[in-house]
Amino acid sequence: MGGSAVPIRTDILVAGAGASGLIAAIALARAGHSVALVGQSPGPLPGRTVALFEGSLRLLDDLGLREPLDDISAEVMGIRIIDDTASLFRPPPALFEASEIGLDAFGLNIVNDDIVARYIEIAAATPAITRYETMIESYDFRDDGVTAKFVDGRQIECALVVAGDGRNSLARSTAGIQVTEWSYPQVAMTGILRHRRSHDGVTTEFHTRSGPFTFVPMPSTDEAAHRSSLVWLMSPAEATRRMALSPRELAAEIEEQSHYRFGAVEIEGTLGAFPMACMRTEKLTAPRLMLVGEACHVFPPLAAQGLNLGIRDSTDAALALEGVDLSDAGAIEAALAGYERTRRADIDLRTRGVDLMNRSLLADVLPVDLLRGMTLAAVTAIGPLRRAILREGVSPSLARTLGAFVRH
Ligand SMILES: Cc1cc2nc3c(=O)[nH]c(=O)nc-3n(C[C@H](O)[C@H](O)[C@H](O)COP(=O)(O)OP(=O)(O)OC[C@H]3O[C@@H](n4cnc5c(N)ncnc54)[C@H](O)[C@@H]3O)c2cc1C
Repeated sequence: MGGSAVPIRTDILVAGAGASGLIAAIALARAGHSVALVGQSPGPLPGRTVALFEGSLRLLDDLGLREPLDDISAEVMGIRIIDDTASLFRPPPALFEASEIGLDAFGLNIVNDDIVARYIEIAAATPAITRYETMIESYDFRDDGVTAKFVDGRQIECALVVAGDGRNSLARSTAGIQVTEWSYPQVAMTGILRHRRSHDGVTTEFHTRSGPFTFVPMPSTDEAAHRSSLVWLMSPAEATRRMALSPRELAAEIEEQSHYRFGAVEIEGTLGAFPMACMRTEKLTAPRLMLVGEACHVFPPLAAQGLNLGIRDSTDAALALEGVDLSDAGAIEAALAGYERTRRADIDLRTRGVDLMNRSLLADVLPVDLLRGMTLAAVTAIGPLRRAILREGVSPSLARTLGAFVRH
């Protein structure tokens, strides 16, 4: 169809068919809006899994999106942190168990591509969603609506855009939302591992001078009883060297780095390498635009926060727009303002927290080591603090409370 044809019309255009865009599209459809989901199926993210915590799983459950993940995920029942920095102020290893806060598991670990594949199927079966497997080339944001042009020349008109179009968001840059970005001298190597000894349902995170080296539980298969996903942060030079090793040579380095805790290791499938960066956006909204997921926050995978935050963005976006008459510009503006207030504190808290944690590992400075060691030791030893932090980690409420406080 050429550019001169009659434009497609919809209530809301969701840009991007990654995990955040898919969840936003499904949540908005469940909230009663007609949705055009525009985006090609994302390419594979080799070795990438996401740990989704209890709070996120409850939000997904409300949308009927949790049960479809059950047979492709592994429960994370504990988190072990081992300081492997050789610092003078190394705290002892700490094991945090879900049972301490009355849960069976902190959450589930799932292959990123599998989540996307399952949610694409669900979006396709949702009558209020029309999927366009193409990319958006340009936007025209006006006072009375938005026109977007697809790369194939088709045009679409809508009342509002919810952009889950990732860290280089075209919707964000077209709307003139400024970003602050910084990078770290780190690359995350990701992969799926088979290993001799069991992970016992526990994530093991070694804190090294180049960042965390983490084994996260994966479900067993007919071929392998014990499997984990690997997230290994290292310098770009080490990443280049290790990506060029044979699978057996790399497995030997992984065994050594893990202090042989899981026995012999075998690499399953393809590895990934992702440069680490952080991004904060000046705003989360612009007239007739809401940002969700990595379109409005990027940071390293310490403490597994990224998509957990993206799920809260997407479900809060749908909540802000529930019952809103999209022909009423004032009502849209009020919903956008509500979303901006609700999400800002949560996003800032996670972005700053992860940045601080990552810098404290990279610092190699005694006072910083002392502070990091004391913090972990205090969190480990002081029961109520320990439980409060675990609860905040799996089911965040602090930022929501702060958001509500700022509102009044
Ligand atoms: C090593 C690593 C480990 C991680 N582990 C965890 C974890 O354990 N837990 C966790 O919660 N998070 C984790 N994360 C973060 C998580 O993976 C991301 O937050 C999440 O995948 C981002 O999804 P998204 O949908 O927001 O963005 P993306 O996956 O980037 O999707 C954006 C989509 O938009 C599309 N798009 C872009 N431009 C256009 C356009 N013009 N038109 C249409 N479509 C467009 C793209 O093609 C893409 O499909 C990890 C990240 C890394 C790097």
